Amino acid sequence: MLGAIEAGGTKFICGVGTGPADLETLQIPTSAPAATLEPAMEFFRRFRQELRAVGIASFGPVDLHPESRTYGYITSTPKPGWRNFDLAGLVRKELAVPVGFDTDVNGAALGEARWGAAQGLSDFLYLTVGTGIGGGAVVQGRLVHGLVHPEMGHIRIPHDFARDPFPGCCPFHGDCLEGLACGPAIQARWGRNASELPPDHPGLVLEARYLALGLANWVCTLSPQRIVLGGGVMQQRELLPLIRHELVDLLNGYIQAGEITDGAERYIAPAILGSRAGVLGALVLAEAAAAQA
Ligand code: ADP
Ligand code: ZN
Repeated sequence: MLGAIEAGGTKFICGVGTGPADLETLQIPTSAPAATLEPAMEFFRRFRQELRAVGIASFGPVDLHPESRTYGYITSTPKPGWRNFDLAGLVRKELAVPVGFDTDVNGAALGEARWGAAQGLSDFLYLTVGTGIGGGAVVQGRLVHGLVHPEMGHIRIPHDFARDPFPGCCPFHGDCLEGLACGPAIQARWGRNASELPPDHPGLVLEARYLALGLANWVCTLSPQRIVLGGGVMQQRELLPLIRHELVDLLNGYIQAGEITDGAERYIAPAILGSRAGVLGALVLAEAAAAQA
């Protein structure tokens, strides 16, 4: 048995099992660390005898450098009580098992790779478009970590103020991709979320354009074999074909791959695991931690 935690800004999803078929989960609203983690640890203690490792896919920013003194910490979050919090350390201490640790979006990417829309691929991108925008990139079979970890939602893209006077809502950058295209940006610009916009609403084409601008950059830099799109905003199913259309338009025939020139029907794929991607990815992190121990 493996344990998994998707540590989110609004909820923690704890799971025990080996995969989608047998995963038993408990959901806990995220409040102060102690109030959130006590019921979580209690849940895992019920499986103490069988638990081999726990994986954590966490909201961030987080420290992922194994040699760092603050490895496994949530670092500079404004969330009360969670700043510089040793999440991986606490779980290791409480449960006395190996702990795997990564970002929430990297976790979701691992979940989609194992059981979802990115199975069998050595190079792909998973992008979530929700309260924020985040990407997990797998290159040659490994998640990209690098200096800190990628913050793909915060790339800069062209913003035509004449077409879209909305200044963007990222507290750090204003009109970065996340600031222009996350769920709260749609809500602030149009007073409704993406599902409530009718199919011919210009907000959908604008949203697709922004996301496609981001995707075009990643197609050109990472050369992914597929891009998997998840997150609450992607539940607006009108968006998917619009994004494919905008991406093909932006790349303008330059990338010579049938996967894209055929309309990107399979290339731009919806996530399959939905809200379970993160916790299932944490299970993959647990598996890796168990194998290393
Ligand atoms: P989080 O990013 O916090 O983990 P979600 O991925 O569910 O959560 O994203 C939440 C965002 O997605 C909100 O901004 C909300 O407006 C938007 N959203 C939620 N459901 C839908 C939907 N069915 N259609 C379009 N947008 C949605
Ligand atoms: Zn930003």
